Amino acid sequence: MTKPIEVRNPRTGKFDYVIIPPPPKLLVQQCKRTRKAQVRWQQLGLEGRIEALQQWKQAILSGRDRLTEALVNDTGRLSVSVLEIDSFLSSIDRWCRLAPELLQESAKNTAIPFIALQQTSVPYPLVGIISPWNFPLLLSTIDTIPALLAGCAVIVKPSEIAPRFVAPMITALNAVPKLHDVLTFVEGAGATGSDLIENVDLVCFTGSVATGRKVAEAAAKRFIPAFLELGGKDPAIVLESANLELATSAILWGSVVNTGQSCLSIERIYVAESIFEKFYHQLVAKAHHLRLAYPTVESGEIGPIIAERQAAIISDHLLDAVEKGAVIHCGGVVEDLGGGRWCRPTVLTHVNHSMKVMTEETFGPIMPVMPFATVEQAVSLANDSIYGLSAAVFAESEAKALEVAYQIDASGISINDAGLTAMIHEGEKNAFKFSGVGGSRMGAAALKRFMRKKAILIKTNATYDPWWFENGE
Ligand code: NAD
Repeated sequence: MTKPIEVRNPRTGKFDYVIIPPPPKLLVQQCKRTRKAQVRWQQLGLEGRIEALQQWKQAILSGRDRLTEALVNDTGRLSVSVLEIDSFLSSIDRWCRLAPELLQESAKNTAIPFIALQQTSVPYPLVGIISPWNFPLLLSTIDTIPALLAGCAVIVKPSEIAPRFVAPMITALNAVPKLHDVLTFVEGAGATGSDLIENVDLVCFTGSVATGRKVAEAAAKRFIPAFLELGGKDPAIVLESANLELATSAILWGSVVNTGQSCLSIERIYVAESIFEKFYHQLVAKAHHLRLAYPTVESGEIGPIIAERQAAIISDHLLDAVEKGAVIHCGGVVEDLGGGRWCRPTVLTHVNHSMKVMTEETFGPIMPVMPFATVEQAVSLANDSIYGLSAAVFAESEAKALEVAYQIDASGISINDAGLTAMIHEGEKNAFKFSGVGGSRMGAAALKRFMRKKAILIKTNATYDPWWFENGE
């Protein structure tokens, strides 16, 4: 028996749920069984796999209320949980629609007329997916769906901080025997994640840079690919010509949706000095309109801080900033309400890059605003980070905004909007710097990551090749 893990409820602070990680031996057996079942899954063909995924979708829809309830208990917020479920369900449809064309293969000519090329792809048999707590459902399924359609079997290890949604997912899986054999959710913490890497053929990891490094090292030792989607410290640049009304609304949403617990939250805001005062006054006024989702989940827009350890980081960053001279205009403290940890949207000025709030991932509803004198300075500040996940640029002219966007070292840039890569999945992107490594999780490449290309070269004539030894010897 492994040690049970008690799970904290983010609204009440009570440990009201328990998960039991599988003993390592059991996990090895599970991986072997799932890998074996993959052969039949691949033979089923794409049509059969699409049918199974659609059946799963229907089973999830039938148990949607239970799934919503579990996700709300995992995260303490309702509207984002509803969005998460909608987005997961629509991703099943989107991939089922795209997969037939993406997986089509054909014979090709080569530079040598009598040699034909058959380009095929072979799925990695068993994919391991390790996911974080901030969007528990979405981030444990975002790679799962394309991997399954590619013909892989998948074992998912969600975060031990938000694992309640797993039970309704398994109930829905039980209704689809063909899928049940090739898709498994295992509960556990870091040790289970680490054991999983030892038994899979490819790993998709979403989480912190610190853990990502361990995952990359473990995968490298086994010579298996690791796709890492890690942290961020996304900047927004607001040029003098920007529409302030739109910019403040977009940035507020991009910073504090899901209580700022998103890898692509805007965590640093650089504003042209001529509009700086007007900008932050407007941002503060709008931030004041947002309410905590307390005492009930419907009470407001800002849910609790899901992970207790994150509340400590947010407090530390705020304290560090104030000690170094930052001024807080709204919010500014982590509150203890009903056992949960909460933070209202917080706007800070008088900030600089000596402060953690401008350099380290805060993962809270915190909006530090800093003025810049020239566009060059704004770009240099935006790029002064170990991260390079995404960014936003606001300007009246699209051309001016694009000029800035091309200079920012990040993989996804929203123009006159924020967090668009969370909404639009067509754009392929590879995280820059410490924000990740590996193929794009978005666009067509996302599915193709799960296959190894295989070239079959066919001699089509019955004569000696010119490069053979003479006389055929
Ligand atoms: P984390 O790194 O602490 O944990 C992520 C997962 O890794 C969990 O399931 C955990 O149990 C597992 N894990 C821990 N140690 C492990 C080990 N040694 N081997 C294998 N697995 C192990 O991250 P977190 O706190 O859950 O999530 C927050 C982080 O995730 C933030 O940094 C955030 O920016 C990042 N994130 C990135 C993206 C993205 O797409 N780039 C999306 C969401 C979150």
